Amino acid sequence: MCADERQWLPPGGQQWTTLAGLAAAGHRSDVRAVEPGLTGIGADPPVAIGQRSLLVRTPAGNVLWDPSGFIDDAGVAAVREAGGLSFVTASHPHFYGAIGEWAREFGAEILVPADDAGWLRAEAGLRVRTWSGALEVLPSVTLVQCGGHFPGSAVLHWAGGADGRGVLLSGDTIFVTPGEDRVSFVWSAPNRLPLSEAAVAGVAGAVRPYAFDRIYGGWWTPVLRDGAWETVQRSAARYIELLRGHGLALPVSRPASGHSRLLRSDLSRSRGAGSSYRWRRPGAVRTGRPSCRVPAPPPPARTQARAAPVHPARPADLATTPG
Ligand SMILES: [Zn+2]
Repeated sequence: MCADERQWLPPGGQQWTTLAGLAAAGHRSDVRAVEPGLTGIGADPPVAIGQRSLLVRTPAGNVLWDPSGFIDDAGVAAVREAGGLSFVTASHPHFYGAIGEWAREFGAEILVPADDAGWLRAEAGLRVRTWSGALEVLPSVTLVQCGGHFPGSAVLHWAGGADGRGVLLSGDTIFVTPGEDRVSFVWSAPNRLPLSEAAVAGVAGAVRPYAFDRIYGGWWTPVLRDGAWETVQRSAARYIELLRGHGLALPVSRPASGHSRLLRSDLSRSRGAGSSYRWRRPGAVRTGRPSCRVPAPPPPARTQARAAPVHPARPADLATTPG
């Protein structure tokens, strides 16, 4: 796994440890209430790349998403207090590390996409179910295969999250960016390798039928707290523009005070270029222009004169943006 192009090996070589060794080194479970019905379980100090798992709690059962690579009595007790565990699953194979330990502790079933099942190293005796496309794990909790980072890369859609507006748990399938106002998509995060246009369109298309307003990635932060459905579609359209070499010169001619104008321009360009992205959110009636977190249209010229200083983005800035 670590020799794969999507991961990396330190120059000094790979090192191995055990759960007992991590505990002896002072690592402990870090359990946090994330939002009603959602509990995060990581490690303090962090283990590996600092990812944390998410426990979705529903009246019909619980599912553990992207299981932490660290497990101890405190973490197990937290899950038990929350009602135990029916299923354990992950966005992609980089988070399969301790999936077997979590499943065995609770007698939970492991759900793994058929396309990535070859990466799973679960011991005999564990229950493993493969799936493809989409799988309703529990009422209002659905696994959605998106592809991209891995062929089986998935998100978990939780319709009851964000006060009923819907949540995606995305792991490495959809990266929330540090500003919490965009998302991105990668083949290899550490090696800075992008996805193809077809793959990005595939991820955006896979989640388009689902209503959601918030995205939790693989870490405590960043979190895309609202407007997530529109942000995924807008970010995918922008990504594809850049893959095509379009839009690099766009920001140069736009004043920073017209940030909203720039984004609107992106939107209209994307749609005007015959993009397949459609700005109609499921379950919502929309008329006129698409709704997103773009501020109001640019002010009239008199107001613009008092606007913030101009900081035009350079093409080089865009070309070197990670991810
Ligand atoms: Zn990954």
